[in-house]
Amino acid sequence: MRGAAFQGAFDVRLRTDLPEPEITGPRDAVVRVTRTAICGTDLHAYRGELPGFGAGTVLGHEFVGTVVAAGAEVPYQLGQRVVASDVVACGRCPACARGWHYQCPEVTLFGYSTVVGKSLDGGQAEYVRVPYADVVLWACPDGVTDEQALFSSDVLSTGYAAACHANITAGETVAVVGGGTVGLLAGMCARLVGAAAVVVADPVPARRAAAAACGLVPASPHELAEIVTDVSAGRGAGSVIEAVGSDATLRLAMATAAARGTVVAVGAHHSNAAPLDAAAAFARELTLRFVVGDPIVVRDDVLALIRAGRIDPTVVISHRLPLTEVARAYELFERREATKVVLIPDDVD
Ligand SMILES: [Zn+2]
Ligand SMILES: [Zn+2]
Repeated sequence: MRGAAFQGAFDVRLRTDLPEPEITGPRDAVVRVTRTAICGTDLHAYRGELPGFGAGTVLGHEFVGTVVAAGAEVPYQLGQRVVASDVVACGRCPACARGWHYQCPEVTLFGYSTVVGKSLDGGQAEYVRVPYADVVLWACPDGVTDEQALFSSDVLSTGYAAACHANITAGETVAVVGGGTVGLLAGMCARLVGAAAVVVADPVPARRAAAAACGLVPASPHELAEIVTDVSAGRGAGSVIEAVGSDATLRLAMATAAARGTVVAVGAHHSNAAPLDAAAAFARELTLRFVVGDPIVVRDDVLALIRAGRIDPTVVISHRLPLTEVARAYELFERREATKVVLIPDDVD
């Protein structure tokens, strides 16, 4: 079968000789992928920033498709449309029982080598094996397209979780640092949970244009404070969502929050020595909260929002390409020419 394999830094290749996955236990399913996407998280692997990331790993943790094989404990029929959670968890341990799937001892991500847990081939492929499919998969509701449902696998669920944990009060101004897909969707979700206005800071003009197209107020990072002051009539941003994952953006987010504000860091942070202006955070009595995102917990809510027409995450898609063009897709995404790339495995040219 075809699939996108990581071969080394800046080297993702279409493989055509991959073995078709098979179920290995009663909780496994195999999904034929109809839509998959490249995520900012994948770029850390692509750039070679993750030491030990296994050559040959089939990439991708965002996918939707139909069930083509299912073990005895999987509650989905063959042919059922399903979407996977990017986070894989057992569903049966004490952490999972509390809905804390990222703290499950079995946690891993599809297509991410051994960075989070055990290596598991990903969904940028024609077929993918899904372990714990009774927990990891979710039925796509009628009235939600595959392309829309794809966003519940990670970026919309993650953006929604960030907005829900940001202590947003009705009518306030929210700032988002980072206009990538999670930042844009978090901003749209912040509006849904009551923000009167959302200012999105990003240095890339195309991303600022994308923010404006999503009904958000664009700003370059250096003008963020001034625009937040204007938009909020001097009250400032009571909630700030940091959606990049760097030390610099975390500092900007904390500097932007109004007194007694909440900062949610939803960008994937890898630094263990991030400088923190503790004096300022103490004086302004800030709350800092980290959110990984948990599609297993929120996907039902976000799919309901899509179905009700309250949000359409497909507005952030910049490119739809056949899976056979995956190498070019990564290049476009790496160069920031693409905001969100959706890959179509059965679109064979
Ligand atoms: Zn993702
Ligand atoms: Zn568990």
